[in-house]
Amino acid sequence: HAERLNGLGTTIFAEMSALAVATGSVNLGQGFPDTDGPDSLLEDAIAAIRAGANQYPPGRGIPALRQAIVDHQKRFYDLSYDPDTQVLVTTGATEAIAAALLAFVEPGDEVIALEPYYDSYAAGIAFAGGRRIPVTLRAPSYRLDLDELRAAVTPRTKVLLINTPHNPTGTVLTDDELRGIRDLAVEHDLVVITDEVYEHLVYDDHRHIPLATYEGMADRTVSIGSAGKTFSVTGWKIGWVTGSPEVVTAVTTAKQFLTYVSGSPFQPAVANALALGNDYFNALRATLQSRRDLLANGLSDLGFEVHRPAGTYFITTDIRPLGHTDSIDFCRLLPERTGVVAIPTQVFYDNKEAGRPLVRWAFCKKEELLQEALTRLQKL
Ligand code: PMP
Ligand code: GLN
Repeated sequence: HAERLNGLGTTIFAEMSALAVATGSVNLGQGFPDTDGPDSLLEDAIAAIRAGANQYPPGRGIPALRQAIVDHQKRFYDLSYDPDTQVLVTTGATEAIAAALLAFVEPGDEVIALEPYYDSYAAGIAFAGGRRIPVTLRAPSYRLDLDELRAAVTPRTKVLLINTPHNPTGTVLTDDELRGIRDLAVEHDLVVITDEVYEHLVYDDHRHIPLATYEGMADRTVSIGSAGKTFSVTGWKIGWVTGSPEVVTAVTTAKQFLTYVSGSPFQPAVANALALGNDYFNALRATLQSRRDLLANGLSDLGFEVHRPAGTYFITTDIRPLGHTDSIDFCRLLPERTGVVAIPTQVFYDNKEAGRPLVRWAFCKKEELLQEALTRLQKL
């Protein structure tokens, strides 16, 4: 096979979900909710199929969904976009990330990514022929060190690939950090791809701020969202890109030859869901926050060092207080020993030392299942 596949192997999510099935484990590995998103959304998709939304939708997405994405950005962030030229519907955020990298990275260009990084970033950068340059978010705070970010920029840097709220650390980038990113991007004329799929999953008094809201970013930001997390339908794969007309046209040019289009009956359903009242978004956040607390407290009682996340639906823990040192060994042994599956965060680091003792647990699960996992983990 081609060199660009080197090191990609099988995604950890497939490996660990297969292991969960094979061992009958509670799967707190791959991040997917065990409750499907709002009834109205599910009914709308069924109705759309019956009404004939089964053929290719328009290349950039159906007008109703593009308008709903625009309205959502206006409502939550006071960002204004033109639905015809500044929005693209994609096959999940995954395709948006890949298409954005293909659109902006030349072979040999450097792409700075915050590590630990979501695994498709590495693949997307490799497919574009780019070089991945990690900037490490270090436990326990997982803050972005702006000096390290600045030091990572070279004349070959083309793209900054950021993610807030951040998977797997749960970091929500602050105003200061986002300003720092903006300043660097403007100074070095960089494109910033910002993966904001967890925009609505932010807890306590933390707040998600889209990078696109900063002055100077409108023409250089590729903003990415997804219905998967916000509406608990990860298998629907409806994502989107917003940005300047030039940015969106570039991403569209790549995207049209990856999948062209997808998700015809899901698009009208997601359009309606984006217009749900604030009570929906508040309830989602409140439910997940209490599940975060349940799992975080339980893991802490079991002896893990818990890094309580500000956002996303993942908790990371340090396993060293339990006498373990390597998260890959730990996660391979865990299902057999306890009947629980988790993700070794180490695989999302180039700098393996920084990630070696870290394990990620998904809490987007029913309380009974989280309790069951905690009970099983007592066998550790
Ligand atoms: N970005 C991040 C940070 C994610 O955690 C995920 C996935 N689960 C994605 C992108 C992919 O989103 P989608 O399922 O919409 O492709
Ligand atoms: N984004 C989810 C996670 O981080 C699922 C990823 C996947 O299955 N590719 O667990």
